[in-house]
Amino acid sequence: MTESAPSPASSAPPGHTGRFPLHTKIFIGLLIGAVLGLGVNFALAQLDPQSLPARILTTSIAVAEPLGKVFLRLVLMVVLPLVFSALALGVLELGDLRKVGRVGLRTLFFTAILSLTAVGIGVGLVGALQPGAKLPDAKRDELREKYAQQAGENVDKAQKAKSVAQTLLDVIPENPLQEMVGAIDGSSKGNGMLAVMFFSLVFGIALTATPDRTGTLVRCLEGLFDVAMVVIGFAMRIAPFAVACLIYAITATLGLDILRTLFWFVLTALLGLSLHLFVVYPIVIWTFTGRKPLDFFRDVSDAMVTAFGTSSSNATLPTALRVAEEKLKLPREISRFVLTVGATGNQNGTALYEGVVVLFLAQVFNVQLDIGQQIAVVLMSVLAGIGTAGVPGGSLPLIVVVMSSVGVPGEGIGIILGVDRVLDMCRTVLNVTGDLAVATCVAGRADPDAG
Ligand code: ASP
Repeated sequence: MTESAPSPASSAPPGHTGRFPLHTKIFIGLLIGAVLGLGVNFALAQLDPQSLPARILTTSIAVAEPLGKVFLRLVLMVVLPLVFSALALGVLELGDLRKVGRVGLRTLFFTAILSLTAVGIGVGLVGALQPGAKLPDAKRDELREKYAQQAGENVDKAQKAKSVAQTLLDVIPENPLQEMVGAIDGSSKGNGMLAVMFFSLVFGIALTATPDRTGTLVRCLEGLFDVAMVVIGFAMRIAPFAVACLIYAITATLGLDILRTLFWFVLTALLGLSLHLFVVYPIVIWTFTGRKPLDFFRDVSDAMVTAFGTSSSNATLPTALRVAEEKLKLPREISRFVLTVGATGNQNGTALYEGVVVLFLAQVFNVQLDIGQQIAVVLMSVLAGIGTAGVPGGSLPLIVVVMSSVGVPGEGIGIILGVDRVLDMCRTVLNVTGDLAVATCVAGRADPDAG
């Protein structure tokens, strides 16, 4: 770290922007958005769609959604410079390759254990509760028809999926700039964000080997990191309002009906996510770091509500970096490394959800999976959790890939699309909390001289 470089923490997104802490404001925004949205959904069901009040309400939904997306875009627009600078600086600050390797291996260890546990919980619950057997055939066909078009989009993307060898090779980008261009919307030729991360890692490693480790290039990276955090600081000021708009648009459009129809599926997914969040993480945190789980949850609450409101691990990355440094007091070279890699590579909630969806739909379609296929679903869900882009709905194309590989019709994903948005919010909370848990565990065992 350069002595002259400004402290990124100084320009981090603010935790307090007035009388209330940010997470309280975002939470209030969530509540207001949800209550208004449900009210509007109820009112629209009673009104004549052509009447003036109905048209005003429909217009309010059409206005709220883009307003909410302004915030998401402001954050996403600086995610790439942030990932690049944070990862390169993280590696540089770890100092030498052996430390990078040690931190990398520990990260991999916790990621693998937590992802496997997550999928195991999901798959176990689907087996025990049998949610797929409880969905009437008529409802199944109705839902498939209703969401046919969106299902088709995900099936198209899934069909473009590459072989495992090609996917692994594509982690090494031929052209990092091209990967950066398509990393957020998934249109890159190679592996998108994973390829950008690989490039940033190699860049950071090479930087440690250059003679002048505190020179101009390092100061540029520091500057880039700080600028990205300042932009995100601006965006966070409108986060409570934006989150209210996003939730309003979702609840006003979907209402509660769909949750009732897919009650058993939603219950299974939520139960699995809650078990992992409130049982597995506390045990892991307590065992590997000695921290009190309640303190951990209090410290990471800003990141949890941001993840819930945005459904995006990438959009929550800056807040996660801030809470890791300011609240959890983790060494920043470790938090930068683990959280930046984890925003794409460690998605416990997504892995759990993928296992639940695939087995649920297998039950719905009466596809019997033998034990080998079930193990394949578990392993593929773990891998899909690593490859999923940290953006809203990022996992859907990969779920179709896993479904197709075990003989469940890909179009069946249409059945769960109506509730996916809400469950996306919940699994993203787990994804982000998981990154912070891994960072805490990696730091808990770090050498005192690691920084
Ligand atoms: N929305 C999730 C995330 O950003 C990814 C997904 O499961 O769709 O972490």
